[in-house]
Amino acid sequence: MMNNTQITIPQNRLDRGFFAHQKEYEDKAIEVLRSGWYILGREVEEFQKEFASFVGAKYCLGVANGLDALWIAFRVLGIGKGDEVIVQANTYIASVMGITINGATPVFVEPDEYYNIDTSKIEKKITERTKAILVVHLYGQASNMAPIMQIAKKHNLRVVEDCAQSHGAVFEGKTTGTFGDIGCFSFYPSKNLGAFGDGGAIVTDDPQIAEDVRVFRNYGSEKRYYNKVVGTNSRLDEMQAGLLRVRLSHLTELTGERIGICNSYLENMNNDLITLPSIREGATHIWHQFVVRTEHRDDLKDYLASKGIGTIIHYPIPPHLSEAYRYLGFKKGAFPITEKYADSVLSLPLYNGMTEEERGAVIEAVNSFKI
Ligand SMILES: *Cc1c(COP(=O)(O)O)cnc(C)c1O
Repeated sequence: MMNNTQITIPQNRLDRGFFAHQKEYEDKAIEVLRSGWYILGREVEEFQKEFASFVGAKYCLGVANGLDALWIAFRVLGIGKGDEVIVQANTYIASVMGITINGATPVFVEPDEYYNIDTSKIEKKITERTKAILVVHLYGQASNMAPIMQIAKKHNLRVVEDCAQSHGAVFEGKTTGTFGDIGCFSFYPSKNLGAFGDGGAIVTDDPQIAEDVRVFRNYGSEKRYYNKVVGTNSRLDEMQAGLLRVRLSHLTELTGERIGICNSYLENMNNDLITLPSIREGATHIWHQFVVRTEHRDDLKDYLASKGIGTIIHYPIPPHLSEAYRYLGFKKGAFPITEKYADSVLSLPLYNGMTEEERGAVIEAVNSFKI
């Protein structure tokens, strides 16, 4: 379909979230600028405490971004060459890179109807090389953690959680990021807890892991110019930490706003051609994305664009079929559910500060889609 219609409701917009608490962000930015201290200072210290308390973990260590959180997690767990890590096939490619940067091999498992790992398919993928399960709480919904933790215990596997999309999502009363050995977070601007640049964090209850991450992220150095291990430079900076503290202080209300928008979508969207997202019993969804599914995905995308409504596909090419992972040797058809999702999912507009009018326009457009 050809159209020159302007997108008036983008899939995401970050300015509204800034303006909602503009004065607090600007005051904090000026405070940090005037402090004369920009790396590993008070803001990071305070943010780490506040975020650890928010998720209910003992320790939090800021790092430079979500991908660093993932690969540093596997590095400090000693998982690398010759080891296998189980992960859902329908994830953002960063989850997989977190595994392969250390030389470990990803072992893919198909997702369930909630777009998270199908726990009934994990055990048959376990070999004597399997060292860990990487759980991704995709789109903001907590994964089915009870069976995952059971399987991990039975087979003596580590559990790492990719919480880049699940800040504050809960499974049976426990927050994502606190089930496994390590929880990995991204604060990329579009995430639910978004910075104004890159940022990430690792949470854990294990004091040794916390210490290893703290040293590793800062050139392997505990004391200036004394280097214990070959580490990296991956630090959350003072500006981002300060601004994240402001956002975190509002996160419960911001998540509530997203839940309100998505509940309205769920109640009012009604189109036989489109499958709406659903929530697993015992899990909460913090709605990083509102993802619908239809066999007529590309038509729906074009139709919404013709009405000025932007959408994004999360994600069009599953990692096992991406050029980057051709070396793993997978062919089309290797993971049919994952591939079907890649061909049929569509993320509708969702952002803090979305007006009732914008929400209504999206609902009306989705309901009026025909083939
Ligand atoms: C965003 C994201 C990451 C990577 O985070 P960055 O901060 O962009 O490096 C990892 N995993 C998932 C599932 C993500 O959505």
